[in-house]
Amino acid sequence: MTPCKNCRKPLSRDEIALYKRLIYRGAEDDECICIKCLADKLNVSEAALFDKIDHFKKAGCTLFE
Ligand SMILES: [Zn+2]
Repeated sequence: MTPCKNCRKPLSRDEIALYKRLIYRGAEDDECICIKCLADKLNVSEAALFDKIDHFKKAGCTLFE
């Protein structure tokens, strides 16, 4: 399991995909951060990020499987 670069929490596939989709598509898995750290970084709520994951999945984004 790949850990969050910031807090070392194990990352889910969705968290890795969201980081790549929102921050940097070419990021390596071990450069990614978890949804909580991403929410802090972007100054949004975690709920808003979960909504984005849903949105990207529904839109058929290939990063989310
Ligand atoms: Zn984290």
